[in-house]
Amino acid sequence: MELTAEIIGVGTELLLGKTVNTDARDISEGLSMLGINVYYHTVVGDNPSRLRLAVEIAKRRADIIITTGGLGPTCDDLTKQVLAECFGKKLVFHEKEAERIRSYFERSLHKTDITENNMSQAMLPEGCTIFHNEWGTAPGCAFRGDGKHVIMLPGPPRECVSMFNNCVVPYLKELSDSEIVSHNIRVFGLGESVVEDRLRDKMLELKNPTLAPYAKEGEVMLRVTAKASSVEEAEEMMKPVIDMVRETLGEFIYAVDEENLESVVLRILSEKNLTLSTAESCTGGLLQKRITDIPGASKVFPGGFVTYSDKAKIDFLGIPEELINNEGAVSQVVARAMAEAVKEKMSADFGIGITGVAGPDPDERGSEVGTVFIALAAFDGTYSREFHLGADRSRIRTMAVNHALDMLRRYLTGEKVV
Ligand code: ATP
Repeated sequence: MELTAEIIGVGTELLLGKTVNTDARDISEGLSMLGINVYYHTVVGDNPSRLRLAVEIAKRRADIIITTGGLGPTCDDLTKQVLAECFGKKLVFHEKEAERIRSYFERSLHKTDITENNMSQAMLPEGCTIFHNEWGTAPGCAFRGDGKHVIMLPGPPRECVSMFNNCVVPYLKELSDSEIVSHNIRVFGLGESVVEDRLRDKMLELKNPTLAPYAKEGEVMLRVTAKASSVEEAEEMMKPVIDMVRETLGEFIYAVDEENLESVVLRILSEKNLTLSTAESCTGGLLQKRITDIPGASKVFPGGFVTYSDKAKIDFLGIPEELINNEGAVSQVVARAMAEAVKEKMSADFGIGITGVAGPDPDERGSEVGTVFIALAAFDGTYSREFHLGADRSRIRTMAVNHALDMLRRYLTGEKVV
């Protein structure tokens, strides 16, 4: 049976725009991985009558109601009282939870004077499944009422998401007699509309497994999800769909399930025992940051340079001043010289050079905003490309890094680089 869920975020701060509702986003993502349809997100302030109304509406349109927030010790934390009331449950004191709360205070906060209202967090609906909060104080819980599954989670994202992944996902899996398995196919270099266009008929036709696109910044992710009586059966069902997508999108697929371009590139470099060095201008070190965000990067990344000014390019990389004067710092030849210089200076197997105009103003030579040159110095020569990446500064920088990583990914996997 298809289950539907509604997420109710409780907290006035969400309505005032002070806090972004990341809990709903993260829970929705988790629910979609479980094959549970989320049809509504609701947000209410810390107000009992409006929360009551939201719960009554959710009862009519969802099988699973998940609330976030309002489980804490203060008087505006009213979720449990209201939910218990809506489903005709009593709140009862759980000594074991009280003990946990006491020990959390002593252990993590070094406090022994625990106020009465903190102990109110140990009051939970009768007969509920308790989700212990290993990441904070307020426990979460789940119960059945009026034919619905009701789940309450704390508001702070770390507590909410950890509890969802560790406690709610296994709880929800128990509700289903089937296994839901997904794979994420990551695509770079093709826009969402092109991907959709090439796969539209298949996406409409496929019911189990399903194939759905998600746009991420500068790339597209396709999620294949299958429901079957076992994980093995679900995997079998997904295999032909993944093969079909591979055949349709070919070299634009950079990974199945791996997180991002940098992790793919680093994994291949590491497997092949190769190293990379970078010289960045308009990206200001973003490529180096993305690389070093990955644990173990030191094995393949000895270091790099951020050469933002002409002087830095000349002093640190030894780019000839005349080259910059004649060609301009934002040029194909300078990008190539940067890539070659950093490769040599760092004795690396590969060098990447990035130079461009991130805006908001064109450079002094009039190169338009978004013009970026990226070069890859490799074993058999230097490859370079010119990009026009729009007008938004942050997007230009992100996309420049993505393209640089993708050029190297293509080289390493034997695809066409330029
Ligand atoms: P606490 O024990 O901290 O009181 P709680 O369950 O009562 O936990 P709230 O008081 O509702 O949670 O929220 C605590 C903080 O968590 C909020 O100030 C806000 O910063 C964050 N938060 C609450 N709800 C959300 C949400 N839906 N998305 C992102 N952050 C949230």
